[in-house]
Amino acid sequence: MKTLKDYNFQGKKALVRVDYNVPLDDNQKITDTNRIDATIPTINKILEGGGAAILMSHLGRPKKGPEDKLSLRHLLDYLSKTFATDVKFADDCIGDEAKQMASKLEPGQILLLENLRFYKEEEAGDADFAKKLAELGDVYVNDAFGTAHREHASTAVIANFFPNDKLFGYLMEGEVSSLKKVIHDASRPFTAILGGAKVSSKIQVINHLIGKVDNLIIGGGMMFTFIKATGGKIGGSMVENELVHVAKNTLEGSKSFGANLLLPADAIAADAFANDAKRLECEANNIPDGYMGLDIGPASCRQFEEVIMNSKTILWNGPMGVFEMCNFQHGTKYIAEAIARATEKGAFSLVGGGDSVAAIKKFKMADKFSYVSTGGGAMLEYIEGKTLPGVAAIEND
Ligand code: AMP
Repeated sequence: MKTLKDYNFQGKKALVRVDYNVPLDDNQKITDTNRIDATIPTINKILEGGGAAILMSHLGRPKKGPEDKLSLRHLLDYLSKTFATDVKFADDCIGDEAKQMASKLEPGQILLLENLRFYKEEEAGDADFAKKLAELGDVYVNDAFGTAHREHASTAVIANFFPNDKLFGYLMEGEVSSLKKVIHDASRPFTAILGGAKVSSKIQVINHLIGKVDNLIIGGGMMFTFIKATGGKIGGSMVENELVHVAKNTLEGSKSFGANLLLPADAIAADAFANDAKRLECEANNIPDGYMGLDIGPASCRQFEEVIMNSKTILWNGPMGVFEMCNFQHGTKYIAEAIARATEKGAFSLVGGGDSVAAIKKFKMADKFSYVSTGGGAMLEYIEGKTLPGVAAIEND
């Protein structure tokens, strides 16, 4: 892998694509600094190696051109504090000012460029725009896993201008090597646990994983589309009727691949989508009318725990129930704890997807897994078997 480790940054200006698409409150204060903090090792490595860092990112979805509330300027204070240096800021990511500021940058200094998406050319993957960005630095470092599935100017096209000087940052390296380990080099038994709301957003993942895993556990709202496909009664549970036949094919397909596809035996149902709703423990394929399944039940928890504890590789994406409501978080927490214990016993566990990560943060368990992925969409596309343009751009010669 082309990584930072052995690269000599002495006197070099490193153009670093980061994912600083952080949430801001109404006063433009950062409410979650995780995405910035995740890039600290990469930036420190460049600075400590005698280089300067030029940081470029997008923020939000600007409609047409610059918008003050989506300016990366709002991140300056936090960045200056984090790196204990006066981080410089270019009002425009390309053009004379950016060029001048980049050329004056001394080793150890950081320059932050304005929001890349103020130019529509960024998302269009425009080669001219990528070239203008490329002119600012000597070496290109991609540390933005969250946008690795996009073929944008700064995430993929720009790499063409650095045939011999393009590298993964540490965050990208960690993400890509964890995913490779799980998808291409899994120790067996390999168990994938998929949950969350929609079958439609994960059906390709499920179909791709079926050929790779020993066990595939399905929970969350999407389990009911599968249970309906088996002829079960799901009451008022979440369902995607148009995908029932697809789920049926997947269930059939899993048999021919020899994968053990597990659906929950029981569920916690509720008479309304509310934390204080009346609850009922019942068979997952026999949910009464007037009730909806909002979590997996205790028998399912125990059954899945056994499978998880016997696994050597575990991939988890998507909560088992409506974990945001404390009366329906039990299944998700139980599974998280089982994965954590299996990890302690030596299994490799990869957790990803916005909501699973939110859940393990809620349970204060983020340090209990082998790797916690930062990029939901990019992770899912990799698991679907797609090539990530941001990864290929660095790997390809
Ligand atoms: P996703 O973004 O597809 O991973 O879905 C995550 C969301 O699925 C979370 O907000 C959960 O509350 C929701 N979810 C999980 N289980 C259920 C369920 N049984 N019924 C409705 N929503 C669910």
